Amino acid sequence: MSEPLLPGATLGILGGGQLGRMFTIAARTMGYRVIVLDPDAASPAGQLADLHLQADYLDHGALRQLGAACAAVTTEFENVPAESLIELARHCRVSPGAGAVAIVQDRSREKTWLAQHDFPTAPFALVNDAADIPAACAKTGLPALLKVARLGYDGKGQFPVATAEDAGRAFATLGGQPCVLEGYLALEREVSVVLGRDDAGRCTLFPVAENRHAGGILDVSIVPARVAANLAESACGMARAVADRLDYVGVLAVEFFVTRQGDLLVNEIAPRPHNSGHYTLDACVTDQFEQQVRMLAGLPAGDTRLLSPVVMVNILGDRWSNGGPHWERLLAHGNVKLHLYGKQAARAGRKMGHFNVLDAELTGALALAEELRGVL
Ligand code: AMP
Repeated sequence: MSEPLLPGATLGILGGGQLGRMFTIAARTMGYRVIVLDPDAASPAGQLADLHLQADYLDHGALRQLGAACAAVTTEFENVPAESLIELARHCRVSPGAGAVAIVQDRSREKTWLAQHDFPTAPFALVNDAADIPAACAKTGLPALLKVARLGYDGKGQFPVATAEDAGRAFATLGGQPCVLEGYLALEREVSVVLGRDDAGRCTLFPVAENRHAGGILDVSIVPARVAANLAESACGMARAVADRLDYVGVLAVEFFVTRQGDLLVNEIAPRPHNSGHYTLDACVTDQFEQQVRMLAGLPAGDTRLLSPVVMVNILGDRWSNGGPHWERLLAHGNVKLHLYGKQAARAGRKMGHFNVLDAELTGALALAEELRGVL
């Protein structure tokens, strides 16, 4: 890479959601200027950026303006059109690259890529046509989950299916779009690894997080993960291998399933910081967003050491249904750190913020996190 981009330089980000907002905070804290491109006038990141370009991700004029004004651009979500990254790369440094994003933004391509590179996954089959369903069910076994290949997230665009007929109905409900059928697994737990990789291939990993989901959405992350050391090592090794094989530059997350049989399977790759890495904001020397800034700017990686056991709890819009959360109950505790994303409308399932509970003992952090989930 050419010379590192030092504070004072302008960094750009495609996408103005909460991940873009926390990138913006990290970058501005370090003295960079930040430009956000997002079509939403009230985007969480746009509120805090030096400049918010309110335009579509395929708007050529806005992309040119962003590329001309920034020394480097990154993204906060995988559904950014790969062609926008290609266009931006004509003007400035861009990471992650369009090639890696194009693979992981499409579940069919992602699963096929993982299998081609011998990464273990749940049994899966591509469903591009209703006629593919019987063979797909035979391959994955039933029950299974039918997942839309593109633009699904947080369990959206997914249907549990018990029979081939169910799968046919689910496929029709999804409008006949390309899908992946995935065998339904009995899970022991889920874990994830967030890492930063620079353009010389040096990888710096954050500690493994143990994740609990509710309704397909991340609910709680527990760090350190309560798994055997060899399983944590395997997860780190696989995450690093995924980043190497993608020749990835930037921050990347790999989510894993741990089956009841003890198998470690890759579930999903995210080409960006990840919700399960939000614990790093308060519990690590360097957080995942500073690492994103460092990787984008071509700086050395920050130290990812865990300073304290931590439990991260997501705050969804559902909590506003009875008049809004009792923040005072949360803020009464000096070891609880609140992060809100500046979103106006609290809809069910919408990620509005999170809090991190730090404690010298993981059991203490878990107990307080559970208590606060109950009274918030
Ligand atoms: P995904 O968006 O594919 O990561 O799915 C969201 C959540 O649904 C996962 O984190 C799991 O909790 C659950 N899930 C997804 N796929 C499977 C599967 N094949 N077997 C069991 N649970 C799954």
